[in-house]
Amino acid sequence: MIEELSRYDNFRAEVAGWCRENVPANWRQEQTGASHAQYLTFQREWRRVLAAGGYLVPHWPQQWGGSDMELAQQVVLYEELARADAPRADLTKVAIYNAAPPIFAAGNDEQRQRFLPGIIEQDVWCQGFSEPNAGSDLASLSTKASRDGDRYIVNGQKIWTSLAADADYCILLARTDPDAANSRGLSLLVMDMHSPGVEVRPIINAIGRGEFCETFMTDVEIPVENLIGDENNGWAISQTTLASERAVVLTTISELVRRAGRDHIIETARHWTMPDGTPSLADGGVREQLGGIYGEVEILRLLLNRMITNLLREGGVGAESSVIKIYYSELLQRLMRLAVELEGLDAQLERPFNPSSSQASGNHIMDYVMSFGWTIGGGTNEIMRDLVAEKVLGLPRERRS
Ligand SMILES: Cc1cc2nc3c(=O)[nH]c(=O)nc-3n(C[C@H](O)[C@H](O)[C@H](O)COP(=O)(O)OP(=O)(O)OC[C@H]3O[C@@H](n4cnc5c(N)ncnc54)[C@H](O)[C@@H]3O)c2cc1C
Repeated sequence: MIEELSRYDNFRAEVAGWCRENVPANWRQEQTGASHAQYLTFQREWRRVLAAGGYLVPHWPQQWGGSDMELAQQVVLYEELARADAPRADLTKVAIYNAAPPIFAAGNDEQRQRFLPGIIEQDVWCQGFSEPNAGSDLASLSTKASRDGDRYIVNGQKIWTSLAADADYCILLARTDPDAANSRGLSLLVMDMHSPGVEVRPIINAIGRGEFCETFMTDVEIPVENLIGDENNGWAISQTTLASERAVVLTTISELVRRAGRDHIIETARHWTMPDGTPSLADGGVREQLGGIYGEVEILRLLLNRMITNLLREGGVGAESSVIKIYYSELLQRLMRLAVELEGLDAQLERPFNPSSSQASGNHIMDYVMSFGWTIGGGTNEIMRDLVAEKVLGLPRERRS
C-alpha cells in the first residue's frame, strides 16, 4: 500500500459504497454477446452514471465539470472501481485521455466551453494521428490542411482510428506547412466527423469487430477556430500527455491484470479438468504455471506502485512508464495464452464476446488475440525499448536515416 493513499481511507469507503449502489450487478453476463447498438447504449448510460457520481473526469477542474481530485485520490478511485469490477468507460477514453489534454493545455476558453461539456455529456471522439506511411515515424505524416481564409481545407488519409465510426469529433494532426521539416509543420485541429468529405471505413479486426477504421478526408473544411494552440506547433502540443493521466490509466490496467490473473484465471482453473478427467489444479505443471503468472502479476503491481510513488513524491514520471508498458503488454499475452492452453480445445469454440470488458472478457481465445494490440498501440514495444535504452540506460541515440 502506498503511504500517501491512506489519507483517502474515508474516500475509499465512500467510493466502495457508491460502487455497491451504482455498478450494474450483472453487466458482465448482460453485455456478453451484446450487439454494437447495445454496447453503445450501455456505454452511454455508464458514462452518465459515472458523471453523475463525479467520477468520469475526476482530474478536471470543477469549472469544467470535473472533481478537482489530486492524483492520490484518483488512484484510490480507480482502485475501488476495479475492485468493484466496474465496467471501463471505453467510449470516452479517447476524448478524456487524448483530446481533452491538448484542449486544456493549449486551447482557449472558447474552445474549452465548446468541446469539454460534450465530452462529459454525449460526444464520442477519435484521434486521427497514424497514417498508412506514418505510425512510429508519426512526424512524417502527409495529411494536408491548407489555410484558405478563415478555414483549413483538409485532404489525406488516417488509419487505425479507434472509434471513428461512432465519433462526433476527431483530434487531428495534419501538415499545415508543407515546406517545414517533419514535425515542425504540423498543427492540431478539431475535425467534426459529420463534415462533408469525411469517409470512415471500419477495418474488421482479428476477432471480427470493426473497432478501428480508415478515415479518408477529401476537401474537408475545418474552421480556424478549431485550431488548438498555434499553427505549426501541433507536434509539441500533441506530446503533452499528462503524466498523471498516464499513471492513472496504468493503475486501472494493473487492477484489470490482477483481476484477470488472480480472480478470473485461477478461479476458472478450479473448474477445469484435464483430458483424463482429473481437476486441472491437481496437475503439478498447471500449478507451476499459475504460480509463475501470479508472481508476474504481482511484479507488475510493484512496478506500478513504485511509479505512482515517484509521481506523488517527485511530481514526474519518466521513461520508467515505458518499462511498465512493455512488461504489462507482454505479460497480458502470456496470461491469455495460458488461459487458452488450460482451457484446451474448448477454447476454440465460438462463443459470444463482451465488448465492454476490455481484456478480461472470459472469452479466452478472443482476449488472447486482442492482447496483441497492446504491444502496438500507444507506441510499439520496439519503440518503447528504444526509449528505455536512451532515457533509462543512457545508451547513445539510435541513428535514424
Ligand atoms: C488497438 C490499436 C488502436 C489504435 N488506435 C489508434 C487511434 O485511435 N488513432 C491513431 O492515430 N492510431 C491508432 N493506432 C495506431 C498505432 O498508433 C500505430 O499502429 C503505431 O504507432 C505503430 O505504427 P504502425 O502501425 O504504422 O507501424 P510501423 O511504425 O510501420 O512499425 C512496424 C514495425 O516496425 C517497428 N519499428 C518501426 N520503427 C522502428 C524503429 N525506429 N526501431 C525499431 N523498430 C521500429 C515497429 O515496432 C513495428 O514492429 C492504434 C493501434 C492499435 C493496435
